[in-house]
Amino acid sequence: MFTQDGIVTKEMFESSLPSPQRRRKGPYAVMECYQKIPCNPCRTSCKFGALQATDDLNALPVRDAEKCTGCGACVSACPGLACFIIDETYSEWEAAIRIPYEMLPLPKEGEKVDGLNRAGVPVAEVRVLKVQAGKILDKTNVVTIAVPKKYLYDIRNIAVRRKEHG
Ligand code: SF4
Ligand code: SF4
Repeated sequence: MFTQDGIVTKEMFESSLPSPQRRRKGPYAVMECYQKIPCNPCRTSCKFGALQATDDLNALPVRDAEKCTGCGACVSACPGLACFIIDETYSEWEAAIRIPYEMLPLPKEGEKVDGLNRAGVPVAEVRVLKVQAGKILDKTNVVTIAVPKKYLYDIRNIAVRRKEHG
């Protein structure tokens, strides 16, 4: 299932994508959550009924793409940093991807940063579109980046090149 180092494979990612018609309509959530652990903040944060309700705390999240609005509440709520929002309608060549981001410094809007793969290896330069600082202690910052569509599977993190002084 996973690669030897526990990384989500391209096949796993592609099998979690909505239908081509839904992908053309706008942002949708992808949960890269494949291990049954007692966790459900994604489900409790979703106000649109897009994550199947269950009494089983260990159940994996099942996203109904037709109900998902791409609101992103699950991204900042997920302690496993496993929820992402993908918007393939952003432009012809780029998708906007919302990622959870726990590092400091936070990037700035418009800044060019390194787009990293799941192993932390730089793949391509990406542009920061939006930064939403988690306002509540247990909420994670969310950064939206413009990613060339050919890297839709690959890029799941960023590295800010700038160093903060003082
Ligand atoms: S993006 Fe919003 S609507 Fe979609 S699953 Fe997450 S919380 Fe629910
Ligand atoms: S909150 Fe995150 S880690 Fe927890 S079940 Fe949902 S997707 Fe998985």
